[in-house]
Amino acid sequence: MVVVMDMPMDLMGRGLRDLRISVTDRCNFRCRYCMPVEVFGPGYAFMPREELLTFEEIVALTRVLVPLGIGKVRLTGGEPLLRRGLDDLVAMLAAVEGVKDIAITTNGVLLAHHAEALALAGLNRATVSLDAMDPVIFAKMNGVGAKVERVLAGISSAQAFGLPVKVNAVIQRGVNEGEILPLARWAKSTGVDLRYIEYMDVGETNGWKYDEVVSGDEILEILATEFELVPRQPAYRGEVAVHWSHADGAGEIGMIRSVTKPFCKDCQRLRLSADGKIFTCLFAAEGHDLRGILRSEMGPEVLAETVRAIWTARSDRYSEERGQVERPRAEMSYLGG
Ligand code: SAM
Repeated sequence: MVVVMDMPMDLMGRGLRDLRISVTDRCNFRCRYCMPVEVFGPGYAFMPREELLTFEEIVALTRVLVPLGIGKVRLTGGEPLLRRGLDDLVAMLAAVEGVKDIAITTNGVLLAHHAEALALAGLNRATVSLDAMDPVIFAKMNGVGAKVERVLAGISSAQAFGLPVKVNAVIQRGVNEGEILPLARWAKSTGVDLRYIEYMDVGETNGWKYDEVVSGDEILEILATEFELVPRQPAYRGEVAVHWSHADGAGEIGMIRSVTKPFCKDCQRLRLSADGKIFTCLFAAEGHDLRGILRSEMGPEVLAETVRAIWTARSDRYSEERGQVERPRAEMSYLGG
């Protein structure tokens, strides 16, 4: 059994619980709100392979983080399923004592091919991003003409191999607010838990405007025209999505209101970029390099002390300060969504 020894607390009394591991900065989608093609086009310089942490390095770091409080691990990117052999990484993480939960966030387009291997390797659940049911709107939003059926096939396949699936939908005004009800109808009929995400000002390339944010309250009003929803209590402290259950008991709907109801005070997440930098906030400009330590003779103690020092100095609460402070922000595809 791994004993959490003296979990570091940051300057706002937040512990270290969740680790998001970006395994690649590449993606097979070009969603305008995340990786607009004008910026992430054919000439874009993605990370060279030798800069990526190896699976062994990711696992070595995870081993150091577990005694500091990390119990949940999520694989993301970029598109994590573009990283070859991802099921090997899942198996290696599943073998780390103290890792209680391994999840993936994916656009789902390659999920049907990988679901079985991932489930067998020890993946516990999957979150699939799906912003529209309408094929034309979906193809336009993903920027590469990908078909919604492939994502739906990925979801079915994951479920068939026993993986619980949640779906995340980013709603952007003028783009897909008309998809709020179709997504909810589909989720209710298939029993998938659906979460709507407010469009966020992550990175510097998506041209974010406040007017394009469809607030969680607005989404709820639209849902209320068709569904009877009952608020449900948070399942645990720090649950990011606020949930409503369908009154007839057929599933639930969540809302991630990072813009209109920030949840910085409960944020217990650490993000690891594919090239080995840790970020203590999704809206941070700079990470702290750990790859140098991992590739040196310095041992796990140095790594643990470095993370502890970074976490105990943490005071990020960007979403609560939005509009009051302006500073540069790293791209989400780089630091891990
Ligand atoms: N490629 C994977 C996927 O599509 O799920 C993982 C990475 S992606 C960056 C993770 C999540 O971030 C997706 O659900 C995506 O919709 C969301 N996302 C990206 N940019 C966003 C933005 N500006 N506002 C809100 N959510 C965003």
